[in-house]
This record gives sequence, structure tokens and C-alpha cells, in this order.
Amino acid sequence: MQKLLLGTRNLGKIEELQDLLVDSGFEIVTPDHLELTLEVEETGSTYLENATRKASAYASISGLPSLADDSGLEVVVLGGAPGIISARYSPKPGADDKDRRQYLLAQLQGKPRPWSARFHCTIVLASPGGETHFAEGNCEGEIIPVERGEAGFGYDPIFLIPELDKTMAELSVVEKNQLSHRARAIKAILPTLLTFL
Ligand code: IMP
Repeated sequence: MQKLLLGTRNLGKIEELQDLLVDSGFEIVTPDHLELTLEVEETGSTYLENATRKASAYASISGLPSLADDSGLEVVVLGGAPGIISARYSPKPGADDKDRRQYLLAQLQGKPRPWSARFHCTIVLASPGGETHFAEGNCEGEIIPVERGEAGFGYDPIFLIPELDKTMAELSVVEKNQLSHRARAIKAILPTLLTFL
């Protein structure tokens, strides 16, 4: 079976991508399966640059087609912040996801609600030969001031999907994969991905 490497160490992303690609016809492998210790610096100024950097580095080191995403949360009243620095959005050394959620809520204090926001995902598929393809997906919602739900990762507990009256963290992986930014990006790249089989 053709292998496809997920170019990420984020366990939340890995769980979602494995579920999204379960019937794709690829054997899905992770950096841990291959004992790869690659660290790719996210120094680009766009999601596309960072995702391309990650996918290309993993494809080159593994010799396998590789898929990597760069994603982020964009809050309207903060001018689109934290955006591409979502994973690093806290001044606290060694900050974790909870610290970043608290920091975001602190930035929103006193700003008028609703705090409309969206998640964005750019996904890049890279071949070992250096070819790259990309696709994007978005998911609209709003930030709420009190955390709800235990599932997911990152900003999920404070990201409300108003139509469902549920946060991303109140959805199972299967439910999140019906509407998330990452699921939409995967759906868009799937026809190209299948040409690698
Ligand atoms: P990066 O793609 O490695 O730069 O990380 C993206 C960051 O955006 C994550 O660390 C999260 O903070 C946030 N993020 C991206 N997608 C999601 C999601 O599906 N749920 C919650 N947070 C997310």
C-alpha cells in the first residue's frame, strides 16, 4: 500500500487527519512511526509558505509523499490575530494551549461581542521530487469567554459554532471532521492526492 506521511507532531491534527484519510487508499504514517525527529521552523510570513516548508522537508527526508498543514485562528475584532502565530500566541515562556486561550481572552476583554472568528487551514501535499500542491479551508464561528468541552486541541474550547450551539471541543473527531477548516482543506486536495496512488 502506498504510504502517505503526515508532516506534523501535533497529536490533535494527527487524530483528525487519520480519521479524514481512513478510506483514502493510503497507509497513513506519522513522524513517530518513522522515528523522524525533524523540527521545521515556521518562519514564513504566510500559511502557504509554512505549510510548504513543512511538507517539503518531510517529503525530502522520508522519500514519501507528505501532507502538512499550517493553520490558525483569526479574530475579526483583533484585526485577524493571532493568525499564523496562533501556535505561539502568548508571551509566557513554555506556554501551553490553555495559556494561549487565556491570553487571547485577555486581549478580548472590553471588546464588543460577538467576537466573530474563523479557523483557517492551508494544506500542502509535497512529493519527494519537490512537486507541491495546496488547498485551503475555513470554518466560521465566534470566540466565547468561558471554556466548554474537553475534546480537540488549541482554541477548540472557546470556539463556538453558533448554528450548533456547541464549541469545537464539544464535538467528537467525526463531528468536527464534518465542518472544520482542516476537513474542508483535505476534501479540496483529495482529487490531487489520489493521483499519487
Ligand atoms: P501550526 O499550524 O503548527 O502553526 O499551528 C496552528 C495553531 O492554530 C494550533 O497550535 C492551534 O493553536 C491553532 N489551531 C489550528 N487549528 C486548530 C483547530 O482545529 N482547533 C483549535 N486550534 C487550532
